Amino acid sequence: MAWDFSTEPEFDAKLHWIETLVREEIMPLETLELDTPSLKAMIEPLKTQVKERALFAAHLPPSLGGQGFGQVKLGLMNELLGMSPIAPLVFGNNAPDSGNAELLALGIEANGAQFQRERYLEPLLRGEISSGFSMTEPDAGADPTRITSSAVRDGDMWVINGHKWYTTNGSVADFLIVMARTVPDVPARQAMSMLLVPRDTPGVRVIRDIPTMEDPVVHYGSYGNHAEIVYENVRVPLDYLIGHEGMGFALAQSRLGPGRIHHCMRWLGQSRRAFEMMCERAVSREVFGEPLAAKQTVQNWIADSAAEMAAARLMTLQAAWMIDQKGQKAARKEISMIKYFGAQVLYNVIDRAIQVHGGLGFSSDLPLEQMYRAARAARIYDGPDEVHRMTVARQILRDYAPVSEPTELIATRRVAAKEHFAKQLELLSIDQ
Ligand SMILES: Cc1cc2nc3c(=O)[nH]c(=O)nc-3n(C[C@H](O)[C@H](O)[C@H](O)COP(=O)(O)OP(=O)(O)OC[C@H]3O[C@@H](n4cnc5c(N)ncnc54)[C@H](O)[C@@H]3O)c2cc1C
Repeated sequence: MAWDFSTEPEFDAKLHWIETLVREEIMPLETLELDTPSLKAMIEPLKTQVKERALFAAHLPPSLGGQGFGQVKLGLMNELLGMSPIAPLVFGNNAPDSGNAELLALGIEANGAQFQRERYLEPLLRGEISSGFSMTEPDAGADPTRITSSAVRDGDMWVINGHKWYTTNGSVADFLIVMARTVPDVPARQAMSMLLVPRDTPGVRVIRDIPTMEDPVVHYGSYGNHAEIVYENVRVPLDYLIGHEGMGFALAQSRLGPGRIHHCMRWLGQSRRAFEMMCERAVSREVFGEPLAAKQTVQNWIADSAAEMAAARLMTLQAAWMIDQKGQKAARKEISMIKYFGAQVLYNVIDRAIQVHGGLGFSSDLPLEQMYRAARAARIYDGPDEVHRMTVARQILRDYAPVSEPTELIATRRVAAKEHFAKQLELLSIDQ
């Protein structure tokens, strides 16, 4: 029976190297408040080190320069990268570029558009260009069947019209992947397609970067911003279609499977960082004549956080294992489950860490308040919690059929048990 929680020593050594790089070379960069070009320049030598160890963009299949690690190993890697928001950039697997690269790769596999590989996918993988994923509209988010953006053929061009928002990196990306209706008069699930749109194409109007809870005083054009974009008679050649017409939903879904494992493991890296801060403070700060660590409430927070993180970690690694063993489709329930469970664990642990630090936790002297604001979004992006709960419940309920009376009704079961055990009951002379 195979039931093994160990990591092979060779990969463990890689994880050790990654953790050292993140803690010693990447986390210190967070404190320097660098603008996007300076940050990119500072991380270049670190990227070289990562590339030398063949750990850059490792999430991709070997045919695209990835390592074929599989989702369990990638998950373990992402747990360490999650400790710092800068680390995924250094390792070439930052959102949304990593998911967009996977999506493009799938599209190219489906339609053989080699120029897309040369002009967009390969430079994206090398970290030379960046991308945005433009699906959500002000009136269509959790329910993408409501998407109204359209792409219509005109000679050898597509003409795109639509209004999108929350396109992460939309104001700095070199190209955008736009979800639009291309097939009229069919249900939305078969009607949507994805198209490549260079951001400098006439008609692409980035209206603003949206101020958010994470970044209320937003500076236009910063890496990680979320853009509102109007596409007005945007013309791109017909072969800028990704995959085939009507493949939009399938591509969107495939983009999010392994990506969710990586997100959830990165959240665990963030949770662990907050947890370590909480424990350090608990043993360092004295109140009413004893360390905070001696107070039962604080002990409960530490114990509960440890248990929740362990549960989320096992659930996520099991979902990763399931993808590796049986494919993404078979792991649909598990992938949805970790999305809402993991997001809540992240939120809980950071919240408790802030509480243990009191006023210091609320201040910007520590990274906790920024982590807390960023964590809140995890319950909304990549599909809000409620949609994932719906998916999980639906999958579970598929195994159940309506009954005329509860299967566990004791009176009925007693009658059946008497019949089943009639001989033994008779021998025991038990009067029933
Ligand atoms: C930080 C951040 C980054 C993002 N990045 C991107 C990006 O790069 N590209 C992109 O295209 N989009 C992006 N998004 C958008 C994100 O995917 C949507 O916000 C999300 O899908 C929810 O859509 P909505 O905001 O329109 O909410 P709505 O669809 O209006 O839903 C609102 C609320 O309704 C409830 N709800 C919805 N459906 C159900 C249901 N079935 N049952 C019960 N309750 C339900 C939920 O509580 C939900 O939060 C990003 C969002 C955030 C916050």
